[in-house]
This record gives sequence, C-alpha cells and structure tokens, in this order.
Amino acid sequence: MNIILLGPPGAGKGTQAKRLEQERGMVQLSTGDMLRAAVKAGTPTGIQAKAVMDAGELVSDAIVSGIIGERLDMEDTLKGAIFDGYPRTAAQAESLDVLLSERGRQLDFVIELEVNEDALVERVEGRFTCANCGEGYHDKFKLPKVEGTCDVCGHHEFKRRPDDNAETVRTRMAEYRAKTAPILPFYEAKGLVKKVDGMADIAEVGAQIDAILDGKA
Ligand code: ADP
Ligand code: AMP
Repeated sequence: MNIILLGPPGAGKGTQAKRLEQERGMVQLSTGDMLRAAVKAGTPTGIQAKAVMDAGELVSDAIVSGIIGERLDMEDTLKGAIFDGYPRTAAQAESLDVLLSERGRQLDFVIELEVNEDALVERVEGRFTCANCGEGYHDKFKLPKVEGTCDVCGHHEFKRRPDDNAETVRTRMAEYRAKTAPILPFYEAKGLVKKVDGMADIAEVGAQIDAILDGKA
C-alpha cells in the first residue's frame, strides 16, 4: 500500500508516519528529512537547499522529485511507502504519478490531516526529536515517558529544527496554502482523498488513519 499524508507543517504527518513504520512495517519517505540529511552531509543538493529551507520556502521540484525517484528504487519501499511532505506542488504530484507508474506501483490513499492553522505554531514551536532515531516529541503534547530519555531507543540527546520558529512557520504555512492545498482536487478527481481530524489527540488521529487503511472508513 502506498499513501500520501497531506497537511500543513505541524499537522502530524511525521508523527503518524513513524507510527505506521513501527506498527505496519511501511516506510516513511520524508523529503524534509532527506533534505536535512543532505544539508548535514554538505552534498551539492544540501548546499543548494539550505537557504531555501531556512527561509521556509520550497526547494525546486526537480530536486525533490529526483530524490524521491532514487529512494523509490530502494527495495524496502516495496513494503509500502508513506509520502510525508511530498508532493507539495502540482508539478510534484504529476511527477509522483510518473515515478510510481514507471515502477508498476500506484497510490492507494491521500490522507488529508484537517487542522486549524492557529494551533500549528504551538505544535511546531514545541517540536523536538531524538537525535539518534528521529522519534518525534512535543514539549506539551508528547513528552518522553522518562524525562530526557527517548522512548524508542533510550538515547539522551534531542534536537530542534532551525526552521521551527514562529516567523518561518508562517511562511511555510503560506507556501502550503498557495502551492500544496491546490493539489487536493487533482487527487479528489481520482477518488483517493480521505480526511481525518488532525486536531484530535495523537492516538485518535492514528485510529482514524488505521480505519482508512483497514478499509473501515
Ligand atoms: P508534521 O510532520 O506534519 O510537520 P509532526 O508530526 O512533526 O508534524 O507534529 C508536529 C508536532 O506536534 C510534534 O511535536 C508532535 O509531537 C505534535 N503532534 C503531532 N500530532 C499531534 C496531535 N494530534 N495533537 C497534538 N500534538 C501533536
Ligand atoms: P518538512 O520537514 O516537510 O517540514 O520540510 C522542511 C523544508 O524542506 C520545507 O520548508 C522546504 O523548504 C523543504 N521541503 C521538504 N519537502 C519539500 C518538497 N516536497 N518540495 C519542496 N520543498 C520541500
């Protein structure tokens, strides 16, 4: 099964993608994570992308579709791909169709996380992740069970993203509204869109997504 999780920054895409990896053996394909890895490694793509990401704007369609294509050639993605943060533009949505059909694969669902934008700044500003395994946490909504220790891997260091500040989040949301939300009709026309209440708590959002994947919603 291949799905897209669609929603603005802070909607809960990464949180749910990580859970689906753990519970269903699917594979999270986050272009944001891939780009951050490229920035950290200092690759030509990373060097090009860094300033754009710091500003909260979108990296070029050619770059992100290129890295998704390379990732889809890795065999683990046959277990089921969760596209997280991709596609973000109409051109990327069209590229994804081509990338999947070239490989004899297809999309099963586009799951839209419906959220109230006013709540997202608080979600994004409070976000932190385990520096070792990438498990996501929140200062208020999802603290580690034992303070200072990752629930998943037991590591003690955590990190925050440089673009998770109120000002950049506003730009990222404006980019979502202008360029990403308009791709929904493309998927609605294909009958793929399912909506979940992204304002519910993390477990409830997960239950709504599970019902869709299990054909019960
Ligand atoms: P996205 O990947 O869509 O940008 P994340 O999954 O990283 O969003 O979630 C943003 C922050 O909000 C994280 O700190 C996460 O722990 C928290 N979060 C995710 N889903 C919910 C939810 N349903 N309710 C409250 N907080 C949430
Ligand atoms: P994310 O981790 O999804 O919040 O993405 C962080 C940043 O990476 C975004 O603000 C963009 O600058 C860039 N980015 C991630 N995915 C894409 C994409 N599909 N298209 C363009 N830019 C992207």
